[in-house]
Parts: sequence; C-alpha cells; structure tokens
Amino acid sequence: MTDVDVAVVGGGIIGCLVARELTARAPGRTVTVLDRGLVGSGASRWSAGLHFPRGATRRVRAMAAAGQDAYERLKAEDPALPIHPLGLCVLSSDAAGVARAYLERAHLTPAREVPGTLPVPAGTGIWTGEGCHHADVGALAAALARRLRPRVRFREGVAVAGIERGDREVTLRLGTGEPLTAAAVVLAPGPWVHAPAWRSLTRPLELRVKLVAALHVDRVPGEGDPVVVFHDPDAFLLPLAHRGHWMFSFTSRQWDVRPDALTDGLTGATLAEGREALAACAPELAGAVTAGRVFCDAYSPRREPVVRTLDDDGRIVFAGAANGSGYRLAPAIAAEAADLIFSGPAQRISA
Ligand SMILES: Cc1cc2nc3c(=O)[nH]c(=O)nc-3n(C[C@H](O)[C@H](O)[C@H](O)COP(=O)(O)OP(=O)(O)OC[C@H]3O[C@@H](n4cnc5c(N)ncnc54)[C@H](O)[C@@H]3O)c2cc1C
Repeated sequence: MTDVDVAVVGGGIIGCLVARELTARAPGRTVTVLDRGLVGSGASRWSAGLHFPRGATRRVRAMAAAGQDAYERLKAEDPALPIHPLGLCVLSSDAAGVARAYLERAHLTPAREVPGTLPVPAGTGIWTGEGCHHADVGALAAALARRLRPRVRFREGVAVAGIERGDREVTLRLGTGEPLTAAAVVLAPGPWVHAPAWRSLTRPLELRVKLVAALHVDRVPGEGDPVVVFHDPDAFLLPLAHRGHWMFSFTSRQWDVRPDALTDGLTGATLAEGREALAACAPELAGAVTAGRVFCDAYSPRREPVVRTLDDDGRIVFAGAANGSGYRLAPAIAAEAADLIFSGPAQRISA
C-alpha cells in the first residue's frame, strides 16, 4: 500500500494539467502534486502564453491542435479563466514554409497590409488567420489547481530532494524530511531538468536549458489588434491588453543557463539581443523597449516534447522539455503522460 497512487513533481502548467488528466480518467485514484515553490511560479509564471496553430513537425502540429481544442473546451466550461482569444497575422518571405507549419484550422488568407495599430513593415508575405489565444499561464495553473483541490492534494513549498525506486513503489524524499511513497511518479520539473534529485534519471534524455526572454514594448494595444508573428526569425509581437502593453518574444542564443541563477532580470546582453531582433522586425519600436522578462525552458535534441518512462518498470514518467512551447503543448503532453501512467504499473493499484 503506497501513500498515494500518483505523485506529480512540479506544479507548473504541465504538472497541473497532468493532475487534471489523471483524475478525469480515474476519479478514484489519489494524486498529490508537489512543488518546492507555489503552483504556477516556475517557467509558467514568466510565459508569454501564446498559442498559435502551428508546429515544425507532424507530432508537434498534432499536439498544437489537441492543445487548442483542450483550451477552447476549458474556456467554454469556465469563461473566467485567463485565456484570451486573439487574431493572427503572419509575416514571412517563405510562403511554402508557412504553409507547411500552420494547420488548416488557421485559415491563413493573404493580406495586403499588417492589421492593427503597430508600425510593422510589411516585408514580402502577409497572411491573416485565426485560432490564436494567449493566457496568463501562472494564473491559469493556479486557477486549475483551485478547481482540482477537492480531488488532488497540492503540497506547495515542499521540495523533492531524492527519488528511490523499490520493487513495488517509488519513494520520494521530501525537503521536510518525510518520505512519500507512490505507485507511479510523473516528473514535470520545467527547466529544472538537471536537479540533483533526478539528474541520473534525466541524463540520457540529453536535455539542455536555454534562456527564454521577451521584451515589454511601451505601447498600449489597440482593441482587436492581432498577434504579429515573424515566421522567419521565430519571433512575435503580442498585444497584452490586460497588462496595457505589447510584448516582443524573440529567440535567444543563450544556452545552458541555470534556472536558479536567473534572479537578476534583464542583463545588458539579453536587452541588446532582444533590441537587435526587434530592430530587424519592427525598427520603429526598437526605442520603446526598456523592460522585459527573462527565464528559461528545457529543450530536447529533436525539438519535440519528451514524454517517456525513465525506469525499466515504467513507474517514473518524464513530461516536459517543450522547447519554449510548453504552454500550448501542455494538454497534449499531459494526455501522453496519463497514457503512460495508465498503461504501466499504476493500472494495477486499486484506488
Ligand atoms: C519568457 C517566456 C515566454 C514563453 N512564452 C511561451 C509562449 O508564448 N507559448 C508557449 O507555449 N510557451 C511559452 N514559454 C514556455 C512555457 O512557459 C514553458 O514551457 C512551460 O511553462 C513549462 O511548464 P512546466 O509546467 O513544465 O514548468 P514550470 O512552470 O517551470 O513548473 C515546474 C515546477 O517544478 C517545480 N520544481 C522544480 N524542482 C522541484 C523540486 N526539486 N521539488 C518540487 N518541485 C520542483 C518548480 O518550482 C516549478 O513550479 C515561455 C517561457 C518563457 C520563460
């Protein structure tokens, strides 16, 4: 007899959606989510939270479609959730690349000019489309946890300091000094993939941690302004109406950062990297950025999320490494993790 059927390590958007998926499929199972901080306070807190209907590979496109459907269902069930629908504008000189990456449901249509209030030069190809939204991801994780609490135990402020595998269970050594035994464990640690407690388990995944940053643009979004996606450099300008400013997300080249070391906000190097990227996309805005947000995410060698068992008997499942797309792909990651849990040993534990 274990303390709990499934322990989920990490209360970010992925851990919360894993807990939701597990209890939806098996309401009698006991699930505990452990987070050394507060729910939604890791990478999820810093996220731009953009969903767009696209993906670089077939699997990611399928996951993006599943994510869109899941978030639309959640919003329909509970309109108060911080999920905000958004129009889409894509700029690119690579029409074939855009056609490959975007799902049919984006309904991309060629346009003559960039809609909205921002001074963005047109470039060579412009399309408008649909199927986007953005979310306050940290607040969404907290809202999901609030709704799950009657069925799921959330132990915030409780770190997992060690993982031991037994014949019939996994024992988590907690920062409180207590052990917690579980029939199965889902590791959803966001960018903390190299934590000492599970480093030996995750090493074979060859994950790396990259800085993910976005600059805050001091311009108030106009009503109905779409997200403007710069497809070729992989960047976007996102209107954050609820915060009263735009955000410019760009691809940083800073690899192998440590999440716990990113406490000093924007550095000169990151600001310069972002301004250079913004100047290439929308030169008139480059002077309007003096602020932003900096954190990181885990990246996999194939640039697809990793959802797989880490031990021979399938009791420990890793769910993450979403390569800077962990919000929009989280519902599909959670579904794959639950598939592994319910096809593994936890299936044999009575609720
Ligand atoms: C600036 C920025 C912009 C982004 N924009 C987008 C976007 O527009 N669209 C998109 O889809 N994605 C975006 N992302 C990526 C996305 O936010 C992440 O992929 C996603 O939030 C990861 O969720 P998670 O649940 O895996 O991780 P996290 O939210 O980091 O959750 C992991 C949790 O594990 C906990 N934890 C760690 N170690 C331990 C331990 N030893 N014991 C117990 N708990 C532990 C942490 O406290 C944390 O709460 C962005 C990320 C950043 C940083």
